[in-house]
Amino acid sequence: MPTSFTHDFDTPVYKGRTSFETGLFINGKFVDGSEGETIDIVNPATGKVITSVSEGTAKDVDIAVAAAQEAYEKSWGLTVSGRERSNILWKFAELMEAHAKELGAIEALNNGKTFGWASSVDVVFSIDVTKYYAGWADKVTGQVLETNDKTLSYTRHEPIGVVGQIIPWNFPPLATGNTVVLKPSEFTPLSALRVCALLNEAGVPPGVVNVVTGYGNTVGEAITSHSKIEKVAFTGSTLVGRKVMEAAAKSNLKKVTLELGGKSPNIIFNDADMEQAVKWTAHGLFWNHGQACCAGSRIFVQSGVYDEFLQKFTAKAKEIKLGDPFGEGVDQGPQISQIQYDRIMGYINSGLTDGAKIHLGGGRVGTDGYFIEPTIFVDANPEMRIVQEEIFGPVGVIIKFDNEEDVIRQANDTFYGLAAAVFSKDINRAINTANKLKAGTVWVNCYNTFHPTVPFGGFKQSGIGRELGEYCLHNYTNVKAVQVNLGTKL
Ligand code: NAD
Repeated sequence: MPTSFTHDFDTPVYKGRTSFETGLFINGKFVDGSEGETIDIVNPATGKVITSVSEGTAKDVDIAVAAAQEAYEKSWGLTVSGRERSNILWKFAELMEAHAKELGAIEALNNGKTFGWASSVDVVFSIDVTKYYAGWADKVTGQVLETNDKTLSYTRHEPIGVVGQIIPWNFPPLATGNTVVLKPSEFTPLSALRVCALLNEAGVPPGVVNVVTGYGNTVGEAITSHSKIEKVAFTGSTLVGRKVMEAAAKSNLKKVTLELGGKSPNIIFNDADMEQAVKWTAHGLFWNHGQACCAGSRIFVQSGVYDEFLQKFTAKAKEIKLGDPFGEGVDQGPQISQIQYDRIMGYINSGLTDGAKIHLGGGRVGTDGYFIEPTIFVDANPEMRIVQEEIFGPVGVIIKFDNEEDVIRQANDTFYGLAAAVFSKDINRAINTANKLKAGTVWVNCYNTFHPTVPFGGFKQSGIGRELGEYCLHNYTNVKAVQVNLGTKL
């Protein structure tokens, strides 16, 4: 019998019950992993095990791929109209809407992000994205191409087939598109599993979405090297992204899109609206406890406002309330795991050893769970690890600069290129700077704003391909060119 999880939430901000199965979700049913093993799931706010989920294996991936292949041929991509897929996805979005608070609570419990943020921002964004793509399902069309009057040439945008999705632990997972074999993070699989029952309720045919929980070096590798998976979308670290491409190249040259890490620059010019720059910068760095791929963790401040910014930004960071993700008024919960906690503390120590100065924070909060103070470094050099490497925690570096040319050079001095931001009231300066930054997203006078229509992805080693918007659709179709002879004789 697959394991299950029942939990009564009795918290200041949410009361309710959740109950769902925690086996692998294959062909519309929850099943045990083929080896019968399980993975313990930990609440990062306490460090204690809350439940366990089935541990999948390569054999389970095979079974899931076979189910996805059959669904692709018989009950989804090749046989179900775009209109019908749209209706089903829309119904699924509505079911998530009806369960938004419950899904947010599961996310807060499993991931440590605050309940308020999880339920009213992350889950709502997932719903918006699902509705956005439900809208696209019957509008993916090819073109008729002008050649000559004795030929009809046109393109069709056909679904690819079985798609593998490997995702990390920092955002709630969702699947749209072709048929899917999805591996959530071994740290945060619960919301993905809860959503599976909603997929059934929405009428998504069995096999269209399969979720195989498990570890990266088993289930993840089985997906990336599977010969019947035609495309893999990977979200995670640049280190593992490299392995994903390698496995794809060594197996069937499946298409690969990668959403990877970042070390994003946030530039504040002398003429910025100071109050707004401080607020957005704090959101840019500390949102999701700094566990965001696009976190603005290199903060460049022009010399004329450096002291003022540092003082105001420090005051803002001090207002951040750490605590139980279900506590009232809490802004920041724990980091995801002991491993991640140790990693972040390792970076804080490396900053000190390398000679940078901690201006704020740097320590643990409490003894249970993985809470780290909002941390600000100053007096850092460009070559230090805290300036070059992704920390993925509430740790930022504030760096003084003199002029535009100097800051653009420093901002682009990284192998990452995911995001960047510019704060200036001078629109010419802001846009000219945005144009010169090597990043997939540049925010002007804001940070970490997202919309289903706006593409997201990386330059350089931050990734390949784009999620969201119309751009994303190109990653999920094969373009077929058809040339019909209308009577030309050879
Ligand atoms: P990670 O790379 O360690 O793991 C991501 C996923 O890959 C997990 O599901 C993991 O089990 C799996 N995995 C691990 N080894 C694998 C292998 N050999 N083959 C296949 N799959 C494997 O990343 P993480 O620590 O879970 O997440 C944090 C990272 O994700 C950060 O670097 C962050 O910047 C990045 N991220 C990027 C985006 C984006 O949109 N660009 C969004 C969120 C997170």
